[in-house]
Amino acid sequence: MIKVGVFGASGRVGKLIIEDLKNSEGMQLAAVYARRELDFAIEPSVLVTSDMATLLSASDVVIDFSLPEACEKLLEAALKNPKPLVIGTTGLSTHQLNLLKEASEAMPVLYATNMSLGVALLNKLVAQASQALRDFDIEIVEMHHRHKKDAPSGTALTLAESAAKARDLDLDKVRVSGRDGNIGERSRDEIAVMALRGGDIVGRHTVGFYNDGEFIELNHTATSRNTFSKGAIRAAAWLVKQPEGLYSISDCLGL
Ligand code: NAD
Repeated sequence: MIKVGVFGASGRVGKLIIEDLKNSEGMQLAAVYARRELDFAIEPSVLVTSDMATLLSASDVVIDFSLPEACEKLLEAALKNPKPLVIGTTGLSTHQLNLLKEASEAMPVLYATNMSLGVALLNKLVAQASQALRDFDIEIVEMHHRHKKDAPSGTALTLAESAAKARDLDLDKVRVSGRDGNIGERSRDEIAVMALRGGDIVGRHTVGFYNDGEFIELNHTATSRNTFSKGAIRAAAWLVKQPEGLYSISDCLGL
């Protein structure tokens, strides 16, 4: 049995991971990290702790869906007590991403801004289209629920990165995150990534390729958060068998 620890257990995705683990063969929920008392019932056999070292010691693999600041603390604790880590938290800063890379030198770390199979494939399709349709303007729109804290979504940024890389562009130089006022014409290489927020939308991403006379739009819609929790559990089962290193969801899915 693979013992799984959950960090961010009381969150929207964390709670689903706890539920989905009940039906995951060969895996068991061993420990959850909680700063305060949990507001939901949990099996008495599960260790509930507010100490990250204890969470790591009690787990074969830890799944994190929290906040960037919290993820940073987890990475720091894991550097002292290495364990396979599945990181789903988005909006990480450059410092936090560097910490994640440092951690991956001492333990296997899978970092995915989107754990769904569909988005993993979408990233491949976007790279292919970006390269094949060199003259097409690329624009990305994402929509999420009103509670989402980071913008644009980690998924949209990953898609933009795939598109930019396929054209040998530096995303930091070509990304546009808003247009307002008399800003002039669109430049050739810019890639806009726009974020809309509202209601309970789980996640919708559209990557459009626009030219004179035709356009293609690649769409992905997540209709349930279980897509992410099940994907993270699948990733955890795969990651425990890997040596130290930094992995993506595509590595896990063999895409
Ligand atoms: P949420 O706000 O519902 O949950 C956040 C969790 O983090 C809660 O359990 C909260 O208690 C915990 N937390 C907050 N601050 C903490 C701290 N200082 N120390 C320890 N724990 C702390 O959020 P959510 O919708 O479950 O999303 C969590 C993260 O996962 C976000 O970054 C979101 O963008 C990301 N996300 C990723 C995917 C993916 O597939 N990779 C999918 C959905 C959401």
